[in-house]
Amino acid sequence: MDKIKKLRYAVKIFAVILVMSSMFILASCDLLDNSQNTNDNTTTNNTTNNNTTNNNTTNNTTNNNTDDDDDNGDDDSRNNEMRVYFLDVGQGDAVFIRFPGGETMLIDAGRWNLTHNAFRRRIREFFPDQERMQFDWFITTHSHADHIGSADFIVNNSYIRNIVRPITFTQAEVSSGAYRDFGISPGSARMQQTATFQRFVTAMETSRWIDGSDTNIYIPMAGKYFYVGSLGSRARVTFYSPTTYNYNPNTNTFNVNHYSTIFCIYFAGQRIMFTGDAYYINEQNVLDSLPRNVNVLDVGHHGSSTSSGQTFLDHIRPTYAIIQVGTTSTGNGYGHPHQVVLNRFLAMDTIIKRTDQLGDILIQICLETSRKRVGALVPAY
Ligand SMILES: [Zn+2]
Repeated sequence: MDKIKKLRYAVKIFAVILVMSSMFILASCDLLDNSQNTNDNTTTNNTTNNNTTNNNTTNNTTNNNTDDDDDNGDDDSRNNEMRVYFLDVGQGDAVFIRFPGGETMLIDAGRWNLTHNAFRRRIREFFPDQERMQFDWFITTHSHADHIGSADFIVNNSYIRNIVRPITFTQAEVSSGAYRDFGISPGSARMQQTATFQRFVTAMETSRWIDGSDTNIYIPMAGKYFYVGSLGSRARVTFYSPTTYNYNPNTNTFNVNHYSTIFCIYFAGQRIMFTGDAYYINEQNVLDSLPRNVNVLDVGHHGSSTSSGQTFLDHIRPTYAIIQVGTTSTGNGYGHPHQVVLNRFLAMDTIIKRTDQLGDILIQICLETSRKRVGALVPAY
């Protein structure tokens, strides 16, 4: 972070959201470290169109002219920004990121069954001229089907340089001792067997990067980190959870959500945190190691009351809360997000954006203050 802060460029984030009509939202916000006061003159101003629901409690102004600079929004300035697409996959998670150097990352792969065909079409659109998609990193937060629904499709139709797979293992992997490849001792690996997870694991066994070499496959663990990109515009990805291979070694109590990885992407002074479906107890478990003043939080467990505990939120104090959640017709039979969680965000003036209300949500993190970009997104549903 210290090195990043030495960049001469100031930093701004622009959240761009397009709704089903041809209209879109540009939320132009100061998201520099929210622990600091900045000289940015757009602080707390959110520019929205009239057709969307905005849950935040900050000042909003209406403005349909969202492209207010000299940038025509093409790809020429891609090397100046990181784009984070929170895709509307119904009741599930999928986030596609393109880094300034062109590196790509996919975090989770949507929901199995109800919406997976639409997700597959949508993610394919990011690679219009390529037979196979290419991902430098494919991170799966955990092995539930609303997060790895199309993970096998991704692996089978892409060149993937690195995969962060779930820390749980299939029955066959436990039986064969495959978990030993990851340094896990016998008796410590946690087994979860589902058809969706098995398809993903089977696909990984034959995964290759574009040069024919094996894809690197990792498991997430607190303390691990890696970099994306080169100096000057690189991002650091740091993992905080899970902290163990087996949370309940002596009981039959088992919940895959506890094995969700909590990690944070640091880029240009910004912090974007992902928690999968981690529970309150997981947040508490790693609280002291987490950064403060997170700029964007991918809200855990789709806004369920099992997650986003008050002490956790008091610690990270997110500026934006992105909730990936479906409607009743796209798999949300759980009443997510829970009003208790929404109230916590509202009480701390966190700006809430929901995929069930807005469709795809794009966050752009720019290295230059003078440019504003407006993306054109087509919601999958
Ligand atoms: Zn989930």
